Amino acid sequence: MIQNSILESIGKTPLVRLRKVTENIKATVAAKVEYLNPGQSVKDRIAIKMIDDAEEKGLIKPGGTIIEGTSGNTGMGLALVAAVRGYNCIFTTTDKQSKEKVDLLRALGAEVKVCPTNVEPDDPESYYSVAKRLSEEIPNSYYPNQYENLSNTQAHYETTGPEIWEQTDGKITHYACGMGTGGTISGTAKYLKEQNPEIKVIGIDSVGSVYKHYFETGEFSKDEIKPYKTEGIGEDIIPANVDFDLIDEVIQVNDRQAFLMTRDLSKREGLFVGGSCGAAVSGALEYARQTELKSSDLMVIILPDSGTRYISKIYNDEWMRENNYID
Ligand code: PMP
Repeated sequence: MIQNSILESIGKTPLVRLRKVTENIKATVAAKVEYLNPGQSVKDRIAIKMIDDAEEKGLIKPGGTIIEGTSGNTGMGLALVAAVRGYNCIFTTTDKQSKEKVDLLRALGAEVKVCPTNVEPDDPESYYSVAKRLSEEIPNSYYPNQYENLSNTQAHYETTGPEIWEQTDGKITHYACGMGTGGTISGTAKYLKEQNPEIKVIGIDSVGSVYKHYFETGEFSKDEIKPYKTEGIGEDIIPANVDFDLIDEVIQVNDRQAFLMTRDLSKREGLFVGGSCGAAVSGALEYARQTELKSSDLMVIILPDSGTRYISKIYNDEWMRENNYID
């Protein structure tokens, strides 16, 4: 059984029951462990789909350059695809991202441009604007734009959704997922609700992001935007990949809750995960307690990435103390 390339190992990740962090919850709670993808995150799924679709449409040619604004995980997925298929990569990211993530992208041969976090999205210095400008300047380049590219949602509609449906024998009742670009939640939820419209979808957002307010009021409010440290979820824009019609509830989680749960998942469940995983589990369990899920309920939570990218932060006691997350 020899695979043609590492790209064939993307997806088909395990669903693992959470046993210890679920105290006082009657429902079965299971986590989809996306760090077991070859690029160690859920974003491998969209990387291959966006490039497959671009190749099919003739948007990228052999030897071309992939340019993307990425917090690291999409970049890692794109870098794997680029290595196997012979493309160059230039990524723009923000100075909020872990050094590990930037080093990893460079290790895979990508060029990385680090841009400031605390500027408006339409500021010429923002990582969105720099990616866009480079894609206009560099010949034979392709800008996948994971925020607006609906291949992102489609990847989860075609893979993550069907996998969860099959792995739970169609018994899933609740689906909880962090919201970054919105691709994971929207694509998976669309597939699951087509199978069973009763399934409840819970979006996990960060305190400091615009999503919860927008979900509840339909209004975009700049006043909601505040700095926070959880990487990968929450936004200061409303991307095309978020379909709010598929979402039943949005729960906001702060950095402290997210990071303490992240460490718990490692120490108590053996799941060595990243900060947005702690946020997703913390928010999902808050929802499970509030709504008193029954023993017949089955909740699935997405764990997007691995702890290896946060060794110098969430898993570093000094950093946790400096930020007042632990005493
Ligand atoms: N967690 C992490 C660590 C991520 O990198 C991302 C992607 N931005 C997400 C969660 C959110 O996934 P999505 O973009 O599909 O909403």
